[in-house]
Amino acid sequence: MAEETIFSKIIRREISADIVYQDDLVTAFRDISPQAPTHILIVPNTLIPTVNDVQPEHEQALGRMMIAAAKIAQQEGIAEEGYRLVVNCNRHAGQEVYHIHMHLLGGRPLGPLLACEDDV
Ligand code: AMP
Repeated sequence: MAEETIFSKIIRREISADIVYQDDLVTAFRDISPQAPTHILIVPNTLIPTVNDVQPEHEQALGRMMIAAAKIAQQEGIAEEGYRLVVNCNRHAGQEVYHIHMHLLGGRPLGPLLACEDDV
């Protein structure tokens, strides 16, 4: 059984977070350390540690994350100009919290997708 992270407590509203969207399958809240004017994390309500742990039964929640992203981008007023969705998996991608999450980033031009190796 995977170990819960702080995100499970946010989902259950046991600790405070700026939740912008929640339904039966996913929760979205503002990143505590925003890298762009809009930086929101979208997570499944059930714990899936990494993309490597994804199973067929997760398909609905994972699809809902994308639907929520589009909805939230509209709410935030960034849909037209555009935004980036990022999912990090494990160490080389810099994953810090082992509860799958999609970063929704926007509100300014975001530059190239990948940092140079020298920057990390
Ligand atoms: P990652 O590197 O993809 O695992 O991203 C983890 C993200 O979670 C980082 O952008 C953190 O700033 C964010 N984060 C960690 N703790 C919290 C929290 N309590 N509330 C909101 N965002 C958080």
